[in-house]
Amino acid sequence: MKQLRVDVAVIGGGTAGLAARREVVGAGNSVVLIEGGVWGTTCARVGCMPSKLLIAAADVAHTVRQAGEFGIRVPDGLSIDGPAVLQRMRRHRDRFVGFVLDSVEQIPADERLLGRARFVAPTTLMVDDHTRVEARAVVIATGSQPHIPPELAAVRDSVLTNETAFEQVDLPGSMAVLGSGVIGLEVGQALHRLGVRTALFARGDMLGPLTDPVVRGCVAETFGAELDVHCNVVPQVQRDGDGYRLRWRDSAGAEQEGHFAALLAATGRRPGVEGIGLEHTGVALDARGIPTFDPRTMQCGDAPIFLAGDASAYRSVLHEASDEGRIAGINAAAFPDVRAQKRRTPLMIVFSDPNVAMVGRSFRSLDPTAVEVGCVSYADQGRAVVTARNVGVVRIYANRTCGTLLGAEMCGPRVEHMAHLLAWAVQSHLSVEAALEMPFYHPVFEEGLRTALRDLAARLKLQRPERPADLECGPGT
Ligand SMILES: Cc1cc2nc3c(=O)[nH]c(=O)nc-3n(C[C@H](O)[C@H](O)[C@H](O)COP(=O)(O)OP(=O)(O)OC[C@H]3O[C@@H](n4cnc5c(N)ncnc54)[C@H](O)[C@@H]3O)c2cc1C
Repeated sequence: MKQLRVDVAVIGGGTAGLAARREVVGAGNSVVLIEGGVWGTTCARVGCMPSKLLIAAADVAHTVRQAGEFGIRVPDGLSIDGPAVLQRMRRHRDRFVGFVLDSVEQIPADERLLGRARFVAPTTLMVDDHTRVEARAVVIATGSQPHIPPELAAVRDSVLTNETAFEQVDLPGSMAVLGSGVIGLEVGQALHRLGVRTALFARGDMLGPLTDPVVRGCVAETFGAELDVHCNVVPQVQRDGDGYRLRWRDSAGAEQEGHFAALLAATGRRPGVEGIGLEHTGVALDARGIPTFDPRTMQCGDAPIFLAGDASAYRSVLHEASDEGRIAGINAAAFPDVRAQKRRTPLMIVFSDPNVAMVGRSFRSLDPTAVEVGCVSYADQGRAVVTARNVGVVRIYANRTCGTLLGAEMCGPRVEHMAHLLAWAVQSHLSVEAALEMPFYHPVFEEGLRTALRDLAARLKLQRPERPADLECGPGT
């Protein structure tokens, strides 16, 4: 058996692990990066990038379907070549993965290991059965894995997840999507727009991650109008020929059933901390079995053990995985001189159409007596009407006492961009007044944001509602 002694061992060669390793090397420490699956990162291989490539194809199909609205005829109608859609997705996906693999290749061979790591002592790891690694500090960056709920146990070998869905040769004729979180909504809508008969099953009454009842209502109405959505349903699933038979009760209690060629489990992801020998580390675990940690240092208690990325289940998005890897790497290298690092304003985007986004403090986390809420509907917003995307609502929250922006929840056209503007404003501790002093071009979707900010200013009694300036030429700008 091989023996290794290093300053820092990093478990997991994904976004967080790679970022952690970079910091450790930068600090002049010795390091080994251990990957138990395949190199290439979840984001590039089976996450952000292939899903956005699928959505991009779906957007084109949707635009073609909408052409009539603009007086444009598509002579031969719409025809979707499933294998070609999937081939383009994989072609670009593989390029993105290639960039990651190139950077992994740059890592000296003796600083990376293939195999599953598990703790056998607080800072000692066994990698498969071939290498024993002794480290001064360990970074756990093991990501997350798809969760298959008990009702899918009988079909778990054939049900698709994000790990397998992007490898399909052709689009299925029909698909049942179980789960209505970010992945279910994004992929479910994309498949629907790519001509797949798609049904979305939600265990609760939620579509997506929002907490504001007004915006949630808009999401339910908007996506309910386009997609075949079944809320508060846990269907029974069984194999039926080449496909699946699903049985469920509708909201009126009537029995329903449907047959689908394929089944996608978008039923959540679980941090990859099971089976890695945490019981040998002495770190405290929360009720979910995740080590308790300080999000400013990523340290688990006082131990020389640091958590990063989806494994922490703190903010399971890419830029946060990268940040957490960086923080964990800096502190693992410097242990015991662990320093708190600044975290960014929370930002999360669902790339559905319309987009759904959350910025800063969620509505649920706020004290309703201490905040004011400004609102805009996109139903009549100038640019949204021009582009036939006039659906959605944005709600912005500010501190009632000082007018500082706190957060926002939104569903609307291209709010991915507005979510960024607001996140930057929140992180800069901008007040509503200061935000209104920023330039707004005309005619843009962001003018809707200004309407919401003006609404907020009026509610805060900070200023008289501004009258539209002369150049503004339409309702809802
Ligand atoms: C379908 C989908 C779409 C997404 N879209 C977006 C998006 O649009 N925007 C966004 O910000 N985020 C998105 N995400 C989330 C984002 O991909 C993750 O937050 C991010 O990739 C997490 O990075 P990570 O380094 O924590 O995990 P990973 O990249 O998964 O890396 C963890 C690595 O650890 C390895 N590992 C696990 N256990 C062990 C072990 N015991 N020993 C050794 N190695 C081990 C794994 O094999 C894996 O390679 C999406 C995720 C999915 C699934």
